[in-house]
Amino acid sequence: MKVASILLPLPVPEAFDYEMPDGVELVRGDQAAVPLGPRLVRGLVTEVRETTGSNRQLKAVESRIDAPTLPEGTLAFVEWAARWTLSPPGEMAATALKGLRSDPPSPLRRLQRVPGAEPARPTAARTAVLAALGDAQMANAQMSGVDLARAAGVSSGVVKGLVDEGVLQVIEIPASAGFGPLDPDHAPATLNPDQAAAAEAIADARGFTAFLLDGITGSGKTEVYLEAVARRLKANPQAQILILLPEIALTQALIQRITDRFGAAPAEWHSGVAPPRRRQVWDAVISGAVNIVVGARSALFLPFKALDLIVVDEEHDSSFKQEDGLVYHGRDLAVARARIEGAGVVLASATPSLETLWNAQSGRYHWLKLAARHGAARLPSIDLIDLRECPPDPQTWLSQPLREAIGETLLRGEQVMLFLNRRGYAPVVLCRVCGHRLTAPDTDSWLVEHRYTGRLVCHLTGFSMARPRLCPSCGAEDSLVSVGPGVERVEEEARNLFPQARTAVFSSDTIPDPRAMRAMIQRMTDGEIDILVATQAAAKGHNFPNLTLVGVVDADLGLRGGDLRAAERTFQLLSQATGRAGRADRPGRALLQTWTPEHPVLMALAAGDRDAFVEAEMAEREAASLPPHGRLAAIILSSEKPEAVEKVAADLAAAIPNAERLEVYGPADAPLALVRGRRRKRLLVRADRDVDLQGFLRAWLARVKVPGAVRLTVDVDPYSFL
Ligand code: ADP
Repeated sequence: MKVASILLPLPVPEAFDYEMPDGVELVRGDQAAVPLGPRLVRGLVTEVRETTGSNRQLKAVESRIDAPTLPEGTLAFVEWAARWTLSPPGEMAATALKGLRSDPPSPLRRLQRVPGAEPARPTAARTAVLAALGDAQMANAQMSGVDLARAAGVSSGVVKGLVDEGVLQVIEIPASAGFGPLDPDHAPATLNPDQAAAAEAIADARGFTAFLLDGITGSGKTEVYLEAVARRLKANPQAQILILLPEIALTQALIQRITDRFGAAPAEWHSGVAPPRRRQVWDAVISGAVNIVVGARSALFLPFKALDLIVVDEEHDSSFKQEDGLVYHGRDLAVARARIEGAGVVLASATPSLETLWNAQSGRYHWLKLAARHGAARLPSIDLIDLRECPPDPQTWLSQPLREAIGETLLRGEQVMLFLNRRGYAPVVLCRVCGHRLTAPDTDSWLVEHRYTGRLVCHLTGFSMARPRLCPSCGAEDSLVSVGPGVERVEEEARNLFPQARTAVFSSDTIPDPRAMRAMIQRMTDGEIDILVATQAAAKGHNFPNLTLVGVVDADLGLRGGDLRAAERTFQLLSQATGRAGRADRPGRALLQTWTPEHPVLMALAAGDRDAFVEAEMAEREAASLPPHGRLAAIILSSEKPEAVEKVAADLAAAIPNAERLEVYGPADAPLALVRGRRRKRLLVRADRDVDLQGFLRAWLARVKVPGAVRLTVDVDPYSFL
């Protein structure tokens, strides 16, 4: 008897076996419809084998689904990713098949002449229709009914009459995917010697090779990897290239650059792409019809036919870590996918993650360095403003030196960006009478005041409510006060200080979609905004030629609360934010307001000394055996039933396997102990690098039964500790 192992989209650790009835042919990578209880579900075949006389009663495969067989590389990657992240392999597989969920766009309906057929009554209107179609010297003269009626100046009824009479016929043509051939020689750049050497190294590598492309903002990293892509495409016109970006908002600019460079557009893949279009991209990727895909981390699961190179741009960005649903790090999976496919992988950044620097230092990754900004552009000068010496007035946030710098910049007709990574008006609302802080009803988080919408919002869950007149705790009237600044409040202050200046707020609240983003960037580029108050939404990737001053309102913000990567993240974010100033030929300036100017992160930023910061930070991590010198994994338990969480946590604590060079911390209440009414507890595992962390976790979890009421999430290499 023939048996097929089939992955189903269920939270279980293994494939299911089904009998293959006569007449059903399946191979690894095929999809099949199989019975599951009363339903038929779609599954992915991982193995087909011959068995002799098992007495187990297996259910039979219903049918093979008519879809292309997944390439071996994709399948092997899905299996590896599931093992690495301890995720259900069937759910990983479903991610790879997501593109198939929708049909491609409907075919276009066009009208064309039926050869030899003439209208019985050739009225003026009918003659005009036939003449219009004859005039349209397109291939076989096809037009849509609407266009034809318009071109002939007649009503659609006349056109329809000709169809009914058999003079015109309706034909369907498939909607074109529009992936034109890319021309590697369309518009090449002339690279400087550093850039050329880097591009050549990437272009010439064969087999799995990993690169760190390390260069400050504006040094030409994008230029370099596009040149490497061009050369690899020349060497192999079938080659497929995947470029990953941390945020959807950045894709448009890169797609435009690729179109300019190669004379045709790449494919785009992320959650903002309409499902029929995603289906077209999926089909084109598996058939090899598309060469370049620009996408978000989920594009890693596309069924590439001939994957040749993966680029992870802004590789340090924590947005590559997916924390909802399947928990994985896009950068780490990109390296794994390249290894499985025997492809190259380029991690590009101005402020690489410590993990990647560690790999480069140890020689595992080839380290390509671009030293200077291209051409005349220079990095901004960075100075700290010690708020202990010049504190802002009460209820204001801009110190005297920053105010003066803003005034001077505006006088020169140049632009200012005030950076504060905090959405809304005020991060906390409290009662002056009883001291109560307003929190969300079902979540441990303070409500953030938003003045534009007039609501108090929980940034974790999206819960919102109108600002109450009475304190919900003591009932005092008009006693609520807004504490601390968000971008809206800083903008209010800037407007009051510089009434002539045109101000705007750039945050995910004011920029809800890519169109709003383009509009805001255009206004900024056209000089219609003088002071832009921005969160990190504006810190990434955009180039404003007339922006010469970046003021960081609260440089200490990310350093408080300190998780493992607080210093690293702050360094990266502030480097990026201050790097916005002076990209063009005008020298830029950045001022950082801080209460702790002696903090190593801020001293390194002011000195422009990334290496010193990395060295100090790496030494601290090494002393504590923390990543990249050790490995971490978190287990997060949550349930609406607090006692059920406590029980599983206690069971886990009692079942920890013996292991060396590995410690388990917790269980403890999570810092966010209540989210959407669910109680949360965490455990953290730290292991030396050479310990089989996944094997330990698997052995441990197999010992504990988790009831349906409790959700258990494993987070390997966690980035969030909340
Ligand atoms: P990065 O990705 O490192 O931030 P980019 O590749 O975006 O840098 O380059 C920054 C700017 O400098 C871009 O406008 C780019 O077109 C320009 N540039 C970089 N290198 C060159 C080059 N060799 N020739 C012409 N323009 C260049």
